[in-house]
Amino acid sequence: MTMRRLALVITVCAFFGATVAAQQGAGPMTAIRAGRLLDPEAGRILTNQVILVEGTRFRDVGPNVAIPAGARVIDLSQMTVLPGLVEAHNHLALTYKPEPESNIYYYTYVQESTALRAIQAASNGIQMLASGFTIVRDMGNNALYADTALRQAIEQGWIPGPTIINSGIIIGGMGGQFFPTPEMAQQHNIVYPEYLDADTPDEIVKAVRQNVLFGAKVIKICVDCKPYAYTADEIRLFIREAAKVGMKVEGHVQTVNGARNAIEAGIWSIAHSTGLNEEMHTLMAQKGIWRAGTDTPDGLAGHPVSPQAYQRTIASLKDAYAKKVPLTFSTDADYYVAGKTRGELCIEFLKTWKDAGIPNADILRAMTINGYKVSETEKTRGPIKTGLFADLIAVAGNPLDDVDALKNVQFVMKDGQVFKKDGVMTPAAFFHGGPVNGWRIR
Ligand SMILES: [Zn+2]
Repeated sequence: MTMRRLALVITVCAFFGATVAAQQGAGPMTAIRAGRLLDPEAGRILTNQVILVEGTRFRDVGPNVAIPAGARVIDLSQMTVLPGLVEAHNHLALTYKPEPESNIYYYTYVQESTALRAIQAASNGIQMLASGFTIVRDMGNNALYADTALRQAIEQGWIPGPTIINSGIIIGGMGGQFFPTPEMAQQHNIVYPEYLDADTPDEIVKAVRQNVLFGAKVIKICVDCKPYAYTADEIRLFIREAAKVGMKVEGHVQTVNGARNAIEAGIWSIAHSTGLNEEMHTLMAQKGIWRAGTDTPDGLAGHPVSPQAYQRTIASLKDAYAKKVPLTFSTDADYYVAGKTRGELCIEFLKTWKDAGIPNADILRAMTINGYKVSETEKTRGPIKTGLFADLIAVAGNPLDDVDALKNVQFVMKDGQVFKKDGVMTPAAFFHGGPVNGWRIR
């Protein structure tokens, strides 16, 4: 190659490079006037801030940010703006109900197809977003990958919804969380596909790969749903296999022994608090293992929690907080409470956190910063910082003074687009007749 031709190639490359850069910077400019801006990391409010959004990302944030000519201005000067909330353990494609299944979710699996449940998941996702949850970890029991379909539909740009971190099918020892009859187990029907059986090392590797292939972003295992619980070595195998593709493992844990094995193996997160005593909390804090306690409050219509059970839940959350276990806001919501959306149901779980005496600033950290970390989005999505995807919400009051202000989300922006304004969903811009973000998104 002559020097002239080399120079030409360099010039052409530089030209295309510049074009790509210009395209990345392109997009409508929006300026948000935030009367109060909550910084959850510092636990404080900044006043009179301007947040500049260009296309799908934050361009600038600060008190003296100039608003470019022609930018759309959104006035939230009477509101508290904060980063989007994270729900770290939900089941968007499962809604069991008093009628007809008497809240027994075996029957939901029998009665409702994956297709129907995927559409329910789309609706539940929209309901979560309307309540300010911009990221949801969707942790299994979603039929035959309805969770993946939901994530793809949102990411490809068919419908609005939170960013979904989905687990695919829950992997467990034979039977999963259920007690199938021999007929059901041998034919692998009825309660399957809710669980993937993995009883040997080969099956563990295969099950993880199946979930990866079909679009999971995190691996969910049933650690101790059966007497033949996973050993620490078996859990390590899950973790190694998931790590090959950069994924983490969450364990459903219901016994102290199960918790001990999961912690010893170095699992990423533990769901539910029944197996977590003070010793387990101490170990989790030492190892930095996330707690997704799914801390159900009392007083949910149709979902009674006994006073004893509720006291145990509160005591456990309180102990975890005192021992500095990394906490996430998680609900395990997979049921219908009449009169409430899925998002409204989840935000009711604030009651448990308040009753456990956790300061508002730390509840907010669990719902934001910790949520981004357990979802592993903290470098791309979550914080209101230049260069990150533009997700934010606004509420009327100040959640640092009264965390129940989160029950009245007035404004939601997702990926730079307004989803809710003045308390009303305005999702039209999110609906498309095709995959506007690309069909290759898997
Ligand atoms: Zn769950």
